[in-house]
Amino acid sequence: MSTDNQLSSNFIRQIINNDLKNNLNNGKVATRFPPEPNGYLHIGHAKSICLNFGIAAEYNGTCNLRFDDTNPEKENIEYMQAIERDVQWLGFEWHELHHASDYFEQLYNYAVQLIEQGQAYVDSLSAEQIRAHRGTLTEPGKESPDRNRPIAENLDLFKRMRAGEFADGQYVLRAKIDMASANINMRDPALYRIRRVHHHRTGDAWCIYPMYDYTHCISDALENITHSLCTLEFEDHRPLYDWVLDQLQTPSHPQQIEFARLQLEYTIVSKRKLNQLVTEKYVNGWDDPRMPTIAGLHRAGFTPKAIRDFCERIGVTKQNSWIEMSVLEYCIREDLNENAPRAMAVLHPLRVVLDNYPDDKVEQLEISNHPQRPELGKRNVPFSKIVLIEQDDFAEIPPAKFKRLIAGGEVRLRGSYIIKCNEVIKDAEGNIIELRCTYDSDTLGKNPEGRKVKGVIHWVSEAHSHLAELRLYNRLFKVPNPDNEENFLDALNPDSLEILTGCRVEASLSDAQPESRYQFERTGYFCFDAIDSVAGKLVFNRTVTLREGAWE
Ligand code: ATP
Ligand code: MG
Repeated sequence: MSTDNQLSSNFIRQIINNDLKNNLNNGKVATRFPPEPNGYLHIGHAKSICLNFGIAAEYNGTCNLRFDDTNPEKENIEYMQAIERDVQWLGFEWHELHHASDYFEQLYNYAVQLIEQGQAYVDSLSAEQIRAHRGTLTEPGKESPDRNRPIAENLDLFKRMRAGEFADGQYVLRAKIDMASANINMRDPALYRIRRVHHHRTGDAWCIYPMYDYTHCISDALENITHSLCTLEFEDHRPLYDWVLDQLQTPSHPQQIEFARLQLEYTIVSKRKLNQLVTEKYVNGWDDPRMPTIAGLHRAGFTPKAIRDFCERIGVTKQNSWIEMSVLEYCIREDLNENAPRAMAVLHPLRVVLDNYPDDKVEQLEISNHPQRPELGKRNVPFSKIVLIEQDDFAEIPPAKFKRLIAGGEVRLRGSYIIKCNEVIKDAEGNIIELRCTYDSDTLGKNPEGRKVKGVIHWVSEAHSHLAELRLYNRLFKVPNPDNEENFLDALNPDSLEILTGCRVEASLSDAQPESRYQFERTGYFCFDAIDSVAGKLVFNRTVTLREGAWE
């Protein structure tokens, strides 16, 4: 995907360019990102965030963060805080922070105005009856007997709805539009419902709550949003968005523009389903590194830059399509390959004793942190008589083309000496427990005389290494589209997490900080887990494998 391609494929920029040419909105561009605080943000939201904040930045405009908090049953403060944190972590700053609940009084007054204009009425039909009256795509709806209730009566009832005189569900306020409209959203949609639920911000001040479609357009208008970007499923709601604003004298009339949702293979992007994974403990919380949440990606070691790069690459179109997980992995690999310092970690240690190395000697070998970037410096890696190597870097009976250590053979320890294996020590069951080797003191930083040694393997000094737990994450689902399954839970990958205890990492990793990311040589990209690490056991999460396709 070339950059030119992306720019021209972004139809939203074309619309805005055109609006600016016609001097619409006095040349201003104002967007907003409007999450409902009913869960943590996921990678789909990242697309919307990058788009809204990106457009604002590009046009020297503004982008607000607005909590669309009109469903108090499902929303809470923890989610709001997580959303703020995640937006900031992604690298964006909002112009103003708002809550739809800040507009409850204004929304109520606008509703009174609609009633006064004869464009809204209080209906006593039950939710079921309203559904039954709604009609279908091929049949018009049926008018409610309350549709022509006199204005004064509607005003009185609506006031009393607010005052708490009626039971939940006893009445709703509906817009009076057109029960025969081809668009079902226009068949007298509900504007307010009675709901006695405590709201995390307004407490018990309200027992009626405005519906999403009614709230959203007015909130946009009150904030003087110019371009209200939302996902394609709201296309059929646009006539209602415009209808509400057309009836009222709001400060502005924003333009709703729809774009395709991000759908990512091998995962799900629905807060409701992610919530189920958390509450039913299929994962360890919203920030489990297997989750497609921003918090999960963060903990796994993704960088904000890689996520922004991903959102840029996938582009913004009107066509729903599936994005392969490899695109996201490519973005993080690119970033980490360039920026993550190298380090050595041994996942399955095998003891190597260097018989000709002095017992108490310790050398501090200087090894560069990044092979292509000398400016990232060098670190000291201690070397001593006993080193640990990866069990599968030794083979007694080597398969064809095996370039690592074999009995009687030689291999180079990365950044260190060439060693030769002289003897294989086994336990009573025949398991290899130790290799007796010798090192060639004349091979530090240079090739040996008269022979070629091709293999290079990673290692740590036993006495100087730290115990570590490495968590290897794999895809959360077994199939590309878990939503297609009868029950998405059936498609969970039982092998999505492999925990390796007993790993050993090089001495320098005791300096790891939250967000410290490394390429463990020959093993993968890992991020320090500051939450679960304790003294004596460092925990690292695998962000991504070194190469594509190395998942299974
Ligand atoms: P979910 O079903 O996961 O709750 P939602 O659309 O209901 O998603 P909101 O909190 O209402 O979630 O979304 C905030 C903004 O993010 C909306 O403008 C929405 O269109 C956008 N958004 C949500 N999911 C995606 C997605 N997968 N791709 C792109 N934008 C998305
Ligand atoms: Mg929603």
